Amino acid sequence: MVRTFAGMSIIRVALDVPVAKLFDYRAQEASAADVGHRVLVPFGRKTAVGVIVELARSTAVPEERLKGVIRILQEFPPLAAEDLRLLRFAADYYHHPLGAVVMGALPTRLRRVAGPPRLKKRGPVMPQEAGPAVRTAPLEAAAAPELTTEQMRAVSSIRAGLGGFHPFLLLGVTGSGKTEVYLHAVAAALEAGRQALVLVPEIALTPQLEALVQHRFPGTPTVSLHSALAEAERLEHWRAACSGQARIVLGTRLAVFAPLPELGLIVVDEEQDSSFKQGEGFRYSARDLAVVRARQRGVPVVLASATPALETYHNAVSGRYTLLTLSHRIGAPPPRISCIDMRGDKLSDGVSERLLTALRERVAAGEQALVFINRRGYAPVLMCRSCGWVSGCQRCSARLVLHLQERRLRCHHCGHVSPAPAACPDCGNQDLAPVGHGTQRVEEALSRLIPQARILRIDRDTTRQRRAWRAMRERIQERNVDILVGTQILAKGHDFPHLNLVGVLNADSQLYSGDFRAAERLFALLTQVAGRAGRGGIQGEVLIQTEFPHHPLYAALRVQDYRAFADDALAERRQAGFPPFLHQALLRAEAPRLDTALEFLGAAARRGSALDRQVTAYDPVPAALPRRAGRERAQLLVQSASRSRLRDFLDAWSKALTSSAPTRARWSIDVDPLEF
Ligand code: ADP
Ligand code: ZN
Ligand code: ZN
Repeated sequence: MVRTFAGMSIIRVALDVPVAKLFDYRAQEASAADVGHRVLVPFGRKTAVGVIVELARSTAVPEERLKGVIRILQEFPPLAAEDLRLLRFAADYYHHPLGAVVMGALPTRLRRVAGPPRLKKRGPVMPQEAGPAVRTAPLEAAAAPELTTEQMRAVSSIRAGLGGFHPFLLLGVTGSGKTEVYLHAVAAALEAGRQALVLVPEIALTPQLEALVQHRFPGTPTVSLHSALAEAERLEHWRAACSGQARIVLGTRLAVFAPLPELGLIVVDEEQDSSFKQGEGFRYSARDLAVVRARQRGVPVVLASATPALETYHNAVSGRYTLLTLSHRIGAPPPRISCIDMRGDKLSDGVSERLLTALRERVAAGEQALVFINRRGYAPVLMCRSCGWVSGCQRCSARLVLHLQERRLRCHHCGHVSPAPAACPDCGNQDLAPVGHGTQRVEEALSRLIPQARILRIDRDTTRQRRAWRAMRERIQERNVDILVGTQILAKGHDFPHLNLVGVLNADSQLYSGDFRAAERLFALLTQVAGRAGRGGIQGEVLIQTEFPHHPLYAALRVQDYRAFADDALAERRQAGFPPFLHQALLRAEAPRLDTALEFLGAAARRGSALDRQVTAYDPVPAALPRRAGRERAQLLVQSASRSRLRDFLDAWSKALTSSAPTRARWSIDVDPLEF
């Protein structure tokens, strides 16, 4: 029964609870101006903070059970209608509870009941006197290089698109000056009196870009938004963004939700990067939401990459996005890429003679080199040669990685750590063998094989602290390092002008993976890694160790022809029926027992097949990593050629699943999944 209460305001509140509904409260004094404000409400026996998402005329809650709000919190600017619109879209599209989506978009401090921080009172902020949070650049602008013809064409195209929704794919080989192009686009947006939002994949990349932006835009208040900021700082930056004080906002994926009243341009750099997709809980793609947001706000969005996601590239070649191409590397010619056939070369600890010789030569010439191996630790597994025991994680279907320096075994999936055993736990054999190679082992081998080289290992283990990473970058820049050994942390966006040789170990493992996106990812990763070589004027050299030197992926990589690779890959996807020609979603389930998860998915599949026969539901299967942190995981793939059809299906399906019999399985829907 729906009741209306004359003369009484009812508000609908988004609360951070795992149910897809809003909660109604009585709020005598509420008006339309309160929509978007936070509100303190009684919830169960507790007090909770929520956000008012709408006013209501009526409620299904009986009068005696309709509670009143405690207080509307007005000390911060409310979320604007357009911010709420994006959050609603995201909640609908990804089938995640609106309350969790709305509250998750706020800085942590604003989600908490206790001690909402006091807003510092400030007059209009002049660039020079901006608070510590909002950085302003020195007043002298750093000289921007004169743009190339291709860059100019790209910039004027984006410029012409200001003031309306225009999606662009800025496709440019590494070092072709994409950053320069989008900084000019940012300048144009600023001149038009608008704010610019720039999304980057890695927190580690923000300081570098921040420094560049500050030099380029003197006196322009700029803030960064990412999860590594201290709470107080993040709140201050968020406030600066939503008050309009900050004119440039740089951030990682969560910044896509930052309220920006005068938004005029969105840039997504390295748009193919998997970190734009949240891998847990609310599994949104910040890249895709950036496009949605640009459409809602009627502003251009620039997706920049040397190796765009095939979905994005497809949108560009099919004319939905405007394709802007930068085909020349600035300065030096593109790096020379070749394969080292490992079948014909002697290996020392996984490193071929040819690569060793090349490394020695660069070191002798006073140049820097990078050895790339996408695996941290010493060896991916410890093994007993006498009985066949291997170091497995008790809680995951994964191997424990040997970290020799700490003499520990670590699970890279659940974080489990145990001391490395001195003898085989099964047979007592004391001669345990590390199998395979990780960064630590390569570092150790190279220091033995090239003793004169100063070697620096850069992976998640050595860069956990931001300060450590900054110090390392300085060491590299000051040329106190000869050889870098690193994982993909090093692949992204860094500019090391003295680095002229890149060696790639162990790339083959990705060539024949079961994941249909593996080749696309490998091509992107190797292009990025290769792009680190030869940025200072000398032609770079890239040596890839492989057992498959004639594989078509390496052939396309050698000539650095992304488009040839992408056109082929798209043709294959079209033929085989994969995204972007189909749209997919996964129903994921996990439970203490695999049976429970599979049974839940089986029942879900039966319910689904009754809903829409045009949506294909596959059989439930265990996940690629079937056990993680003691829970069994399984999934069910559904797909359709029509996105809207899939969306309607998911909508009805998730409602049906929510209202069906309780299960011990925890489930969630992953729309446009990237991991299987
Ligand atoms: P990308 O983002 O495409 O990898 P960047 O924008 O980082 O490339 O540019 C690579 C290098 O070239 C940078 O050091 C940048 O300052 C420089 N650069 C960019 N555009 C120009 C230009 N028009 N003239 C001279 N140098 C440029
Ligand atoms: Zn043994
Ligand atoms: Zn584990």
